[in-house]
Amino acid sequence: MITILRIGHRPERDKRITTHVALTARAFGANEILVDYPDKELEKNFESTCQRWGGDLKIRTGVKWRQVLKEFNGQVVHLTMYGETLEKAMEVIDATQDIMVIVGAEKVPREVYEQATINVGVGNQPHSEVAALGVFLYSLFEGKMPEFNDGQMKIIPNPRGKTVESK
Ligand code: SAM
Repeated sequence: MITILRIGHRPERDKRITTHVALTARAFGANEILVDYPDKELEKNFESTCQRWGGDLKIRTGVKWRQVLKEFNGQVVHLTMYGETLEKAMEVIDATQDIMVIVGAEKVPREVYEQATINVGVGNQPHSEVAALGVFLYSLFEGKMPEFNDGQMKIIPNPRGKTVESK
C-alpha cells in the first residue's frame, strides 16, 4: 500500500500542482492520496479521472497531517532535495511494506525530516514535487507502471496518433 501525503498546499498557488501530484501518484502506482487542505473540487475531479481512465484509488483532502503521520504504521519517505541519494535509499526501502511518501509545497516543518524513516533526494537540486514523486515511484517499482483495465476508456499505444477504446 503506497500512500502519498501532500502537505503545505496553498489554495491560491498550488491547485494545479496538487492536481498533478494526485495524477502522477495514480499513474505511477500509488494507492491513496492525502492532501492537508480541504478541496472537494480536487476530490471530485480526481474521482472522475479514475472513473474515465480506471484505478481504484482513494483521495482524501483536509487531513490533519500530523495525526496521519503519527498513526501511520510503515515506512515514511520524505522527498526533499536535501535527502539521501535515491540509489542509497532504494537499498533500504522495502517495496513490499506499506509506504507513506510525503511531498511538500512551501518549506516543510523540521519534524517531518525528523519523523521520516528516510529523507530522499531525487538528485540534490531543487525541482518539483511532481517530478520527484514520479521518479521515486518509478524507481521503487523498478520501471513497472500499473495498467488500468476498469475505466470507461483505455488508450491503445500508438506510435503515430491517438487510439482510445471506449467501453
Ligand atoms: N526546499 C524544498 C525541498 O526541501 O526539497 C524545495 C521546495 S519544492 C518547491 C516543493 C517540494 O518538491 C519539496 O517539498 C519536495 O517534496 C519536492 N522536491 C523538490 N526538489 C526535490 C528533489 N531534488 N528531491 C526530492 N524532492 C524534491
